[in-house]
Order: sequence, then structure tokens, then C-alpha cells
Amino acid sequence: MTTRRALVDRLASVVGPSNVVHRREDLLVYEFDGTIEQSLPDAVVFPGSTEEVAAVVRACNSLGVAVTPRGAGTGLSGGAVPAQRGVVVATGRMRRILEIDPLERLAVAEPGVPNIQLSEAAAEHGLFYAPDPSSQKACTIGGNVAENAGGPHCLALGVTTNHVLGLEIVTADGEVVTLGGRTCETSGYDLRGVFIGSEGTLGIATRIVVRLLPVPAAVVTLLGVFDSVERASATVSAIIAGGMVPAALEMIDRLCLQAAEAGLQCGYPADAGAVLLVELDGVDEVVGPQAALATAACLAHGAREVRTARDPAERELLWKGRKGAIGSLGRLAPNYYILDGVVPRSRLVEVMARVSEVAKEYGLLVANVFHAGDGNLHPLLLFDDREPGARARVLEAGAHIMRACVEAGGALSGEHGIGFEKRAFMPWLYGEADLENMERLRGVFGNGGRFNPCKLLPTGTGCGEMGHNQAAMRAAGPEAYV
Ligand SMILES: Cc1cc2nc3c(=O)[nH]c(=O)nc-3n(C[C@H](O)[C@H](O)[C@H](O)COP(=O)(O)OP(=O)(O)OC[C@H]3O[C@@H](n4cnc5c(N)ncnc54)[C@H](O)[C@@H]3O)c2cc1C
Repeated sequence: MTTRRALVDRLASVVGPSNVVHRREDLLVYEFDGTIEQSLPDAVVFPGSTEEVAAVVRACNSLGVAVTPRGAGTGLSGGAVPAQRGVVVATGRMRRILEIDPLERLAVAEPGVPNIQLSEAAAEHGLFYAPDPSSQKACTIGGNVAENAGGPHCLALGVTTNHVLGLEIVTADGEVVTLGGRTCETSGYDLRGVFIGSEGTLGIATRIVVRLLPVPAAVVTLLGVFDSVERASATVSAIIAGGMVPAALEMIDRLCLQAAEAGLQCGYPADAGAVLLVELDGVDEVVGPQAALATAACLAHGAREVRTARDPAERELLWKGRKGAIGSLGRLAPNYYILDGVVPRSRLVEVMARVSEVAKEYGLLVANVFHAGDGNLHPLLLFDDREPGARARVLEAGAHIMRACVEAGGALSGEHGIGFEKRAFMPWLYGEADLENMERLRGVFGNGGRFNPCKLLPTGTGCGEMGHNQAAMRAAGPEAYV
């Protein structure tokens, strides 16, 4: 049995005492990510290099202590929460952009670089990094790789896996390995692809090679204003069925509009039922006609107005509202529980109706702001965690909404990952053999059960500390793993 003192001394011998956090009051910051899961680590360590990451992982393995990777802690499925305590390996000191190569249109970054800094650094070459999570000012590129993050502008361009060429990783058993490279095509199995979206269960990304794209010559941003979410939802399918894939196609409902407008004064019509934020980019000759088609589709589906951003400042303001909408919900309730489900676009109207129905059944307010173009829903259930029983009610309602997404032919996550939160729902989508194969894949990277335990797969023991949503799983259906 390793004492906390022995663990801290061992970690300090690798990274230096000032890069190990172990006092309870300091550890409190690391017991959460962006959701409501919670578990206190024994220590948090901040390595400064790949070699230090590898040495920390090996030290934890030899002491039999669990390891949980962490970027900025903005994750929304409990992935960075240390389910079995142990050591959190945080990438906050590895924040350098090592290279921008405008000729090859790529960048090389350490894992702790905040997403937005890649585009800021590339801008002087007329380039940008496409995946733009709404949390991009804070979330790290390492966290994005782990979650295969998306963002409003991923509809036409694809999510993180479409923009990462290569990775250097430290595997769960402390080995340094390179996956992929600096070109689009590599030979053999696509282990780069396997690692992206593995939610910090296979290893820790220590260096990331990303593609950069040219900043588009022309951009048009439209705001379609509707009286109801249903009308706006029907328009989403119509725009894409009309033969174009906009750069972004986002939905914001009435509650979010009101909160965002009150908090950020972004020019949203606070009396609307919903708005669609539609962005088209490319060259003038294409963008102009596409904007006319998108406007016509909105009006044909009952939009009461379609505004066009007149200049970059106005466009910026519209996006500020979209990206800050979730934070603004703090005006309406002390807590929110955000869900992340995917449904086929053609089922949006009916699933959105089911979301409202479930919220009503459970007496909860629900706000919606989401990537409508790819059917990626984010219902936010608003509540007050201080109210007895409120959390259990919210989790149960959440499970029913996730079930509705799966029953509509969708998926359990569009971008936030499965993490701890939804691992019990995996049997809704996968058979035993599929799950066993995923477990075996974990073993190939050296994860014997103590590397980010209790995440992604519905297996593993000793996860009871964070197991507060068991009642929700039971309520959600017989196949839920309890
Ligand atoms: C307001 C708000 C808006 C959001 N909007 C979006 C959005 O539009 N799109 C979207 O995709 N997500 C969104 N998110 C979720 C979140 O920001 C992303 O999942 C992001 O990728 C997490 O990055 P992070 O650095 O905070 O990672 P963390 O939360 O620290 O970790 C997330 C997971 O990654 C693992 N991890 C972290 N670093 C590494 C590494 N170097 N190597 C291996 N594993 C690692 C952790 O173990 C954990 O499992 C949003 C979150 C918030 C709070």
C-alpha cells in the first residue's frame, strides 16, 4: 500500500516538488470537469515534457496508482475526473506551439495549447485550424484529440480526426509511440484514428500535428428568426437537402436567446422561439447564391425574418452569443446538466418534441443550443443542485432523452464523449462482442484497468464513488448496465 507521502515524493522526484499538487484545498479544483461528476484525486502532477509524462505514468504503474489525463477540465462527460482517485496528469505546462509550417499547411503543438491559439498563431499566414469547440478559448488541443471534439464550423469541414495528421503519445504503460505523421496518408493500421476519440483511456497525447486550412475569401452569416424550434428544425433538413452544406448551421432556442442577449448583448431577437445561425464560406461566386438559397429555405419554412451580418463586427457578435450561450444560462439557474446526443437530421423535429415532453414530465426547464446541421443535440436541463432530489431527477430525465436519441437511430455522443457519464448506456448501441473487442483494444495500449478507469466502457470495478446515476440507468431501460 503506497502512502500519499511516498506517492508525492516519487512524483516530485520526476517533475520537481513545485509541479506536484497534493494539499486537499488545492486538489478541490481537480475533482470536477465541466459536468456534475466529482471525485478527488490523491495528487495532481504537471509534467513539462514527453519524457516526464512517460516517467510519471511508469511511476504510477509501479505503485499501482490510477492515472487520469487532464487538459483544461472543460470536458462534459466526466472524462478528466479521477474515478478511482490516484494521480491526475495535467498538461498545463506543455503549452508551446512548436512549429507552424505554412508551406505544408500544418502546425505542431504540445497538448496543453488552448484550441484558439492555433488559429491565432496561424492567422499571420492566412491559415486557421478548423475545429472550433464553443469552449475553444479554454479547452486544449490534447483534450480535443481525446474527445474527437467538434464545433460549429465542423459541419462542412469535419471534426478533430479530420484535421490531425499525427500524434506522439505516451501509452498507458509508459511507452513513447508515434501514430500517423505529417502527411495525409500513412501505411498500415490507422492507430492515429484509433487514438483520436479514445477519451484518455489509451494514453496521453504529448505532441500533435494538425492540418491548417486557408482562411476563406468570402463569408456570409445569416440569422433566421423563427417562432418555434419545430419550424427551425424543419428548415435545417431543407437547407441541406437543397444541395449545400453550410460551414455552420446552429440552433439557439428561446431560453438560450434570452439568456445570451441579457448577458452578452449580441443583437439576438429575445422574443423569437428559435434562431438558426447559418454561415456560408468560400469564394464570392459560390457564397452569394448559396446565401440566397439558404434565405429562401428559411422563409419557405416560416422564418419571420432573415438577417445578414453587415460586417465582421456584427458577425463576431452573433458568434459571441452562440459560443457564450451556455455560460449565460447561469442567469436562469445555478446548475445545468448538458446532454450530447445525435439524431438523424430528418428526426430532429420529433426528438426535439420528445426532449420538451421529458423535461415537462420531470418539471424541469430545458434550454437548447446545438449543432443542428449534423443532428447533434445539446439539451440543457436547468436545476438547483441544493434542492434535495434535484440531481437524481435531472439524471433520470437525461437518461430518457439519451434513450430517445438512440431509438431515433442516433448515437450517445456527438462530441462530448461517453466518459463516466454515459458508459452504462453503451449496451444500447453495442453487443457484448463489440464491447469485448473495445476492451481488448484498450489492453493493446497497455491499459490494464488503472489508466483512466471507469470511462467509456461499461466494465471495471470500484467505480461506485461516482455511481450516483444508477437509478437513472434503471429508469431508462432494461438493457442499461447497472
Ligand atoms: C461551455 C462549453 C462549451 C463546449 N462546447 C463544445 C463544442 O462545441 N464542441 C466540443 O466538442 N466540445 C465542447 N465542449 C466540451 C469540451 O470543451 C471538449 O470536450 C474539449 O475537447 C475538452 O478539452 P479539455 O482540454 O478541457 O479536456 P479535459 O476536460 O481536461 O479532458 C477531456 C478528456 O480528455 C482526456 N485528455 C485530456 N488531455 C489529454 C491528452 N493530452 N491526452 C490524452 N487524453 C487527454 C481526459 O482524460 C478526458 O477524458 C464544451 C464545453 C463547455 C464547458
